[in-house]
Amino acid sequence: MASRFALMIDPAASDDLRTDFADSFTVVDPTAPALNVSELSTQRGDGIFESIGVVEGHVQETRAHLARLAHSAQLCDLPAPNLAQWRQAIALATAHTGSGEGVIKLILSRGVEHGPAPTAWLTSAPAPDFSAPRTRGIRVVTLDRGIDSGAPSRAPWLLLGAKTLSYAVNMAAIREAKRRGADDAIFVSSDDVVLEAPTASVILRFGDRFVTPAPASGILHGTTQLSLFEHLAERGFATDYETVSASSLRQADGAWLVSSVRLAAPITAIDGDEMSHDAEFSASLNQYLLSPRD
Ligand code: PLP
Repeated sequence: MASRFALMIDPAASDDLRTDFADSFTVVDPTAPALNVSELSTQRGDGIFESIGVVEGHVQETRAHLARLAHSAQLCDLPAPNLAQWRQAIALATAHTGSGEGVIKLILSRGVEHGPAPTAWLTSAPAPDFSAPRTRGIRVVTLDRGIDSGAPSRAPWLLLGAKTLSYAVNMAAIREAKRRGADDAIFVSSDDVVLEAPTASVILRFGDRFVTPAPASGILHGTTQLSLFEHLAERGFATDYETVSASSLRQADGAWLVSSVRLAAPITAIDGDEMSHDAEFSASLNQYLLSPRD
């Protein structure tokens, strides 16, 4: 079983070519307060993060998560992260991940108000138990995201493709889904285009073709979706990024919410309409996602 671990990181410049960043790390008590009360991450949600799955001590898809961290930093005008430094921080945390499933979070905040530099830290903890959603599936409702599909290009300051710390809206959507008797939600644009779930990507199956909305539609490009598409292609299936209308959701032969720690949760109902669910196929996806992946 993983133990909890936390590391404060003094962020190095991206062009710092040091090979050993040990003196930029401070191990802290994961149960004790560690942040300045003027932190902009806590005051405004002004920062970015990554949640990385860990299975039996193997950190999954580190490279894809670091690439997305750098992409989010760029979208948010944060200094480019030094990826060698983050890799070393992850390696330090790996020693504490133990057996079973865990989650490593990387957080890069704008820093303290009027402060000179960003604040960065990493935590590692046991993962929540997702065995029921993976095997029994989940019921979802579609929720209006309140933006049309032109918003990402018209209003880049909405930071729609960045994994920012501002998840209050996403959490509100999950609460609304629960109020409606479902487990989770799928966001749909005001012009009827399927986007993503509040904390997951959406993958749909049409025959032997698997599709997901294109990242340019103002969604996060999921590392799990990317990895699953590689796997599906190896198994001989076609995979595509596509504009999917909300009305065609119900025509899918299968649908999943996928993300780094939950892995693949098959959807069993959309807005109260039952969906077909191939439990054996979903189990094969989760078996792949639980195998060591880089
Ligand atoms: N979309 C959103 C909004 C998310 O928060 C997440 C993950 O938390 C994802 C998609 C899936 O991303 P990943 O597969 O990299 O975990």
